[in-house]
Amino acid sequence: MYGLSAEDLDLQARARAFADELIPLEAGAELAGGELPPDVAAGHAKRARELGLHATNMPADLGGGGCSTLQQVLVQEQMGRVTNALGWVAATPPSWLPGVATPYQIERYVRPAIAGEREECYAITEEGAGSDVAALQATARRDGEDYLLNGTKWHVTSFNTADYAFFQARLADGPHAGEHAMFLVDLPSPGVRVLRTPAYSHSISHHHPIVAFTDVRVPAAHLIGAEGDGMSFAYEWFRFERLMVAARCVGAAERLTAEMTTFAAGRQVGGRPISEYGTVAAMLADSLTELFAARSMVYETARGIDRGADVKIAHGQCSMAKLYASEMAGRVADRAVQVFAGRGYMRENVAERFFRELRVERIWEGTSEVQRAIIAAQMVKRGPAALA
Ligand SMILES: Cc1cc2nc3c(=O)[nH]c(=O)nc-3n(C[C@H](O)[C@H](O)[C@H](O)COP(=O)(O)OP(=O)(O)OC[C@H]3O[C@@H](n4cnc5c(N)ncnc54)[C@H](O)[C@@H]3O)c2cc1C
Repeated sequence: MYGLSAEDLDLQARARAFADELIPLEAGAELAGGELPPDVAAGHAKRARELGLHATNMPADLGGGGCSTLQQVLVQEQMGRVTNALGWVAATPPSWLPGVATPYQIERYVRPAIAGEREECYAITEEGAGSDVAALQATARRDGEDYLLNGTKWHVTSFNTADYAFFQARLADGPHAGEHAMFLVDLPSPGVRVLRTPAYSHSISHHHPIVAFTDVRVPAAHLIGAEGDGMSFAYEWFRFERLMVAARCVGAAERLTAEMTTFAAGRQVGGRPISEYGTVAAMLADSLTELFAARSMVYETARGIDRGADVKIAHGQCSMAKLYASEMAGRVADRAVQVFAGRGYMRENVAERFFRELRVERIWEGTSEVQRAIIAAQMVKRGPAALA
């Protein structure tokens, strides 16, 4: 099915087998706030690298997987079958960075990230700047050979595990005053301080603290690209990550659909399996139908990118894939809880965990409303036929 090559199928099978190894650990991780014993987690990260599932999105000449977009999707789809972010060990370092990084930045950040020796986090969102990234208030001020960074960032995912941050700020002065720039900040650094680590709906080992940057001094060599380039990097990352979010949502929906089908075929009520009751059968059928639609959309978007699709078209299609797949997965999780009923409300049940975990897929990397705005704008500018 889907016309996958032998190489694609091999990578997919490796990712699937790895996900199947992680699944039995989910319920324990859930009860431990998302944590696994450190040696177990380290073992998973090592295994993901050995299996060629880590850094699939990074160039082969720098030690990355050099995989096609479709192959990256196939891996992330399988990782999406696992709850509690246990699949995040198959990490995707910043694929937008090698093309704009200096040789110094390649050696200091890119190669170690590909080797699994360094990990990034993104400090972009602020209390008053989320969907409207352009409104952020953090500043970068040139000071001799350095920049001084100031600002408070929200939801900094993986700050507790990362050892460098991308920090996006508005230039305080100079010829590009008011424009955005992106910086690399080593962690820990003087002036970087966690203000608060709020609890979120999901239980995962990667936290999302609110982090203050106060007069954080970074050398000018830590500016990425040129002054004024900041927003373009954010857009490139969004495009990639939206497609990967969609892929993981497809994986989650596949797992849920499989689990609820097994349960519905086995649970007897009134002498018949509940799958034979029309209202339950409809929940199964609708879930698989929507999963098929989402997967087809995600694979075709990936193939288009591999064929060299125009970047604006790819941007619109990645938004459509993320919008549809995240909303589809939310509906499937809701139905799965309903099919499992009382069991589906227990934390040890996969449907309960996904019901909470998948909610954020409609929020991060651009909310559903923002995706719709992007799609509609592209439709008006290029005509609907250009996108679909
Ligand atoms: C668990 C989690 C992890 C995250 N990780 C990171 C991270 O690592 N780094 C980082 O920088 N950020 C991160 N974020 C932030 C995330 O990207 C933002 O939450 C998201 O972009 C939405 O911004 P906001 O929360 O400020 O909502 P707002 O922008 O305040 O939106 C509020 C509401 O208004 C709607 N809205 C806003 N603009 C429009 C519009 N133009 N048209 C229609 N409706 C609109 C939104 O859809 C939403 O319904 C994370 C968030 C969460 C929840």
